[in-house]
Amino acid sequence: MMKDVPVLMYHSIAERAVARYQTWTVTPTQFAEQMQYLHQHDYTPITVAQFAAYRARPSALPDKPVVITFDDGYVDFYEQAWPILQFYGFAASMYVITGLVDSVQAAPPDLAPIPYMTWAQLRQIQAAGVEVAAHTHSHVKLDTLTQEKMRWEIAHSKQILEAKLGQAVTTFAYPYGRYNAAVCAEVAQAGLSAACAVRYDMSDLNDEAFALARIIVQNNHTLADFASLLTRQGVKRKFMLHRAKARLWRMALKLV
Ligand SMILES: [Zn+2]
Repeated sequence: MMKDVPVLMYHSIAERAVARYQTWTVTPTQFAEQMQYLHQHDYTPITVAQFAAYRARPSALPDKPVVITFDDGYVDFYEQAWPILQFYGFAASMYVITGLVDSVQAAPPDLAPIPYMTWAQLRQIQAAGVEVAAHTHSHVKLDTLTQEKMRWEIAHSKQILEAKLGQAVTTFAYPYGRYNAAVCAEVAQAGLSAACAVRYDMSDLNDEAFALARIIVQNNHTLADFASLLTRQGVKRKFMLHRAKARLWRMALKLV
């Protein structure tokens, strides 16, 4: 039977957030409890790059795989999440907005007002096994751009990361989970092997490589909610409305 692969999606890990980011801000205590839960229940975290690579050798996929992803590259990953991941020896993937690395200026209005990691911090987490991968250069809705601009956002973010960090970048995450067929084609063209969407659904090795389903872990989730999100039925129940909306949007774009 095909193994379920929950791909968890986090943004900021912090005690407090301004009201509009509260939902997507998980506290350090919640995060620690969630990682402890994964450890106690024998989950094996893998990176998105590893997940993509297991497609070629499905039988090697560990039992109870889970993918832990973070979007945007906030410094609170380095300060709050990373020590906990290190404690358990957990792999993770970090999707960085290359134009905002080292940035302490106010974030664009649709991002949380939190400083971003520096190149030195990114080098350090990458050396310790965190996959540092691309999330565009300026956090744009790729499906709204001209092909030329879209291509630049994807290829340029990959190239900057590779130049600054010295390792090949093989995966990508769509800002706002927004993509269409042309965006997927461009990501593949740039030499990337997989891309994360949102979709509020369980993933597995048969999932769409350039639109992997992710599950957003929210501030209002209890530990019991978190546990149920690791199951196919639990994700379906918890995100019924989100999934319906995501599906309508994908149908409108002829993605399904
Ligand atoms: Zn983002």
